[in-house]
Order: sequence, then structure tokens, then C-alpha cells
Amino acid sequence: MLDPYGRTISYLRVSVTDRCDFRCVYCMAEDMTFLPKSEILTLEELDRLCTAFVRLGVRKLRLTGGEPLVRRNVMTLIRALGRHLESGALEELTLTTNGSQLAKHAADLAAIGVKRVNVSVDSLDETKFRAITRWGKLPQVLEGIAAARRAGLAVKINTVALKGVNDDEFDRLVTWCGAEGHDLTFIEVMPMGDIGDDRLEQYLPLSLVRARLAERWTLSEIDYRTGGPARYVRVAETGGRIGFITPLTHNFCESCNRVRLTCTGQLYMCLGQNDDADLRAPLRASESDSLLEDTIREAIARKPKGHDFVIDRRHKAPAVARHMSVTGG
Ligand code: SAM
Repeated sequence: MLDPYGRTISYLRVSVTDRCDFRCVYCMAEDMTFLPKSEILTLEELDRLCTAFVRLGVRKLRLTGGEPLVRRNVMTLIRALGRHLESGALEELTLTTNGSQLAKHAADLAAIGVKRVNVSVDSLDETKFRAITRWGKLPQVLEGIAAARRAGLAVKINTVALKGVNDDEFDRLVTWCGAEGHDLTFIEVMPMGDIGDDRLEQYLPLSLVRARLAERWTLSEIDYRTGGPARYVRVAETGGRIGFITPLTHNFCESCNRVRLTCTGQLYMCLGQNDDADLRAPLRASESDSLLEDTIREAIARKPKGHDFVIDRRHKAPAVARHMSVTGG
């Protein structure tokens, strides 16, 4: 699938549920209203949609949310999607998770053919972790990460850089990830959804984070890519890698290869724009996938050039009304 700017679309991210067992302060409001279950696609429908994308050229599939591992029977879907790994149609099947349920599922994920997972950890301090996630327990997440590694999965830690919240922990995270053999990626907070707090208070440009890290660590640019938006450096002292996802200070839209599907079947061609295409109606309209495939192709043909996330005093409202948990990070 080629978009109007000549970018090949080969990566689909699927939010399998908007529900989560955490309430991270920068992601959700505390009193979130979730979608009624009747609106959510069944696991069979999600499989059919993902399979249509694979047929159209998607080579990498990431399940996210909400929290993908809290969706009931989600392993049935993951197991079903594993057949595309076996056939070679899909290069990678992976997940972004908060890690709370990973201890339970890590071995099955590895057996299905998942090779690596992204786990979100914004703090290694138990009290602070609780404050950021509102409901999360750090030891449970660390046990999930350990189980993933024991099962042979590679782990990448995702850390959202939050001014005055976790910016005193970045060196500790680099040390820990280096020692444990996890990649580490820092993410700039994006203005998505009303969270009842001022984003300006949270926003920390990664240009600053990188400059501060460079005072303590020897960082060198490397070509390593995972098919996602992070740009990586190598840390000489630990041998580890650090990625930077910089939607605000340096957007990466020119190389965007992604589209995002919600658990109700809306396809977003850009994380930072409102335009979407409804795939649920064509999916349910017939047993054949030809209408669905036409709708997907039409949607790709209007993928926008890029997003225009801005966080400053003049732009206090979210760039898009939906929370990250709807489209999936
Ligand atoms: N529950 C899973 C998790 O915690 O990783 C998957 C969904 S979560 C929405 C995916 C990623 O998006 C997490 O790394 C989270 O920290 C990040 N995220 C959520 N809201 C964000 C925002 N407004 N800006 C930047 N990253 C955000």
C-alpha cells in the first residue's frame, strides 16, 4: 500500500481495547468513560481485519490499547494471528503493554512467535510509579518484565519524559536498562485527549533530555531501526541503546509507515489528526473482504502528510480530542 506521499504502509497498530488497569496521569483522566462492550469488535472481527491488512502488505503488527493483555481471551487472537508469522506473510507480531499481566502470558507469547515487547515504565521508584499510573504496582510490572526475559522475549522499556516528575530518574533508567539488557526509549508527551491537567506542566523536550544525558554518558548515533519512529544512540558505558521519540521537537512524519486501528474498527491514518475511516461497516456488510479492502485502500489514499502537535502557552487544548488509549501508543 502506497500513500499519496510515496510512503509504503507496512505497519499496523491495533488498539484491541480502550480499557486499562492503570490510569497514567498523562494518558487518561481518572474518571474515564469507556466504550460500551457492544461497540467493540469481537476477537474474530479483529482477526479478520488484521488478516485483510496483512494481505494488503502489512508486515508488522503491534497490539496495543488501552492495555492489550486485559482484553478477555486476547491470547486467542494473538494465537490466531501467529499463523501469519508461520506462513511468512508477517515479519513481526508484537505488543505494547504496561507489563501488569506479562508474567501470566510471557511464555505463551514466546511460543506463538512474538520476539519482543515494549513495556511502559516511567519510574523505578515504587511510590512515584504509583503516583504516575494512579493504580499500578511496580513490583508486578518488574516481575512481568523478568518473566518476558526468561521466556526469551527482548524487552524495550518506554518512558514518557515528564518534567518535574521523572526527570531525576533518567540516569537510573539508563543504568538499569544497560545492566538488564533492555533497550530504552524516551517519548515526548503528546497533546492527546483532555486529562484535566496542563500539558505544558508535563512537557519536556527530548532535545533537553538528550543534552543532559550526554553530560553523563557517551552517546553515539547508530543506524539501528525497529520500523517505528525512534532514533537510536549507543551508550558506550553500558553497551545499551537509547531511542528518542520526538513528535514535538522533531517530527518523523516523512518516514511514517503506520496506520492505527481502534477496537471499534476506526482506522486513523495519523496519530495526530482527526480524519478516520470506518472499517466496521464494510467488515460487517458482507462475508467477502472486497468492500473492506477497497475501504482500506481509499483510506490509505488520504493519509495526511503529517501531524501538527504543538504544546505551548497558546495551544493549551489537546491537538486531538481522543485519548492515546483509543488509538493506542
Ligand atoms: N497499556 C499499554 C502501555 O502502557 O504501554 C499500551 C497502551 S499505552 C497508550 C502506549 C504508550 O503510549 C505507553 O508507552 C504510554 O506511556 C504512551 N502514552 C500514553 N499517552 C501518551 C501521551 N499523551 N503522550 C505520549 N505518550 C503517551
